[in-house]
Amino acid sequence: MTDTTVFQARLILTMNPARPRATHVAVREGRILGVGTAADLAGWGPHRLDTQFADQVLMPGLVEGHSHLMAGTFWRYVYGGYFDATDPAGKVWPGLKTLDAVVAALGVAASGGDGPVTGWGFDPIYFGERRCHRHDLDRVSQTRPVGVMHASGHILNVNSVALEKAGLLRSGIDHPGIPLGEDGLPTGELKGPEAMMAALDQVGLNRAFLSGDEQGITDFGRLCVRAGVTTATDLAATLGETELATLERVTGAPDYPVRIVSLLRMMGMKPADAVDRARTLAERSTELLRLGRVKIVADGSIQGFSARLRWPGYYNGRPNGLWYTAPEAIREAYTLGLRHGVQIHTHTNGDEATELVLDCMTEALAASPRVDHRFTLQHCQLADEAQYRRMKSLGLCVNLFANHHHYWGDQHYAVTVGPERAERMNACRSALDAGVPMAIHSDAPITPMAPLFTAWCAVHRLTASGRVLGEYQRISVDEALHAITLGAAYTLKLDAEIGSIECGKRADFCVLADDPSTVPAESLKDLRIWGTVQGGRIFAV
Ligand SMILES: [Zn+2]
Repeated sequence: MTDTTVFQARLILTMNPARPRATHVAVREGRILGVGTAADLAGWGPHRLDTQFADQVLMPGLVEGHSHLMAGTFWRYVYGGYFDATDPAGKVWPGLKTLDAVVAALGVAASGGDGPVTGWGFDPIYFGERRCHRHDLDRVSQTRPVGVMHASGHILNVNSVALEKAGLLRSGIDHPGIPLGEDGLPTGELKGPEAMMAALDQVGLNRAFLSGDEQGITDFGRLCVRAGVTTATDLAATLGETELATLERVTGAPDYPVRIVSLLRMMGMKPADAVDRARTLAERSTELLRLGRVKIVADGSIQGFSARLRWPGYYNGRPNGLWYTAPEAIREAYTLGLRHGVQIHTHTNGDEATELVLDCMTEALAASPRVDHRFTLQHCQLADEAQYRRMKSLGLCVNLFANHHHYWGDQHYAVTVGPERAERMNACRSALDAGVPMAIHSDAPITPMAPLFTAWCAVHRLTASGRVLGEYQRISVDEALHAITLGAAYTLKLDAEIGSIECGKRADFCVLADDPSTVPAESLKDLRIWGTVQGGRIFAV
């Protein structure tokens, strides 16, 4: 009995430039023993030949560098998004095109059971200027709390009962994230983590639950297999002991199909405590659960008008957005992270937030010099070329939100930032040309996890209406495939283990029915995914 399996494939795209194409890959103990021809591998001794992929194409397992476990958990709630979406079991849920349709879908859920009625994926920017009001959601229920999370994850709409239970249905509230109606009472729109905080629990969207729910983590794994993903991030986790115990148990099961890289969200924590906690967590890393990194959120979302923009601000004249973390806290966290070797990823959407973070990094590096820190800016949607040049000089990586450009590009062009800045959003070409290591992402559940679709977005920059938005910033298919494998692995400091198919790396493969190197570039998003191989274990969709 041999412990070596040789998989025969129609083609293996290795992403290793020294040996880019092969037909056979030998796997032992979950790792790649060798890749090449059958003859190349014969020298490794006795093996079992597995021909089940003889008609398939293998790529390195795809790496989702910015996603959230709640992409699995959310599916137990009402899908209220504008675009069609596929659940973990493969069922397609049609997009809801009007506010009434969202209210109706929530109403169906409210007709049974008790407790909160919860929706997600809500995207009212498509419904014109009218904002969702608590009275809209009072039509769903006047006795149960109702809440619907926006697609951006930065805004929550709730009904009167939820407001009341959260202690917010009163006059005299003065908070930038809690708009008031003419009656002096909150409208039910809660913007930013601080404003949402009290209501989240009331509507069943407790953050610890969202990233620590056993069924959700399991469903997240199923979404990953469907997308060809073998490593995915949970980019803003609370990582309390209870969530951690669940994560350890679920990812430790022999059939869990994906490596989870979970970043500790520095929210309501002192920077020193966050960095300390990350160092303690790092020691608990396992093969399928990687811990020890920190996530900071600097501002909000552009389509929610809560991102921080530099002059001249929003195209439609909306007031500037919100700071989520104080500059001093960012600077202190960076200084400590650099000193102790704790990697930090930072969400910056608006270019003022990016600029602030670049300033903080400049000061932190002066205080705690470190090479190869790979601190990474997440989203970084509005950065201009001068900012990419600064990122390069500071050793920063970037993970751009290519999907966002597709889903909201038309709104950015017409409403949020205007044509010129919309064309430079998610500037993949500028990043690569400046020499900034780059990944691209879905931010699932904000948009669906599907790295091949994300690659298609970066290659074509087509918006939902079919406009090519920012032709100059398009990248090649090869560059996009690199971004969803080695590029994302690099931002997680995992590129020595995953991201390409070569001797010594983990046996993580994306199994495709079609060949990405020969299909027309327009079809990149339509490549048929058979499933994955993760650490040598086989998972069919
Ligand atoms: Zn995110």
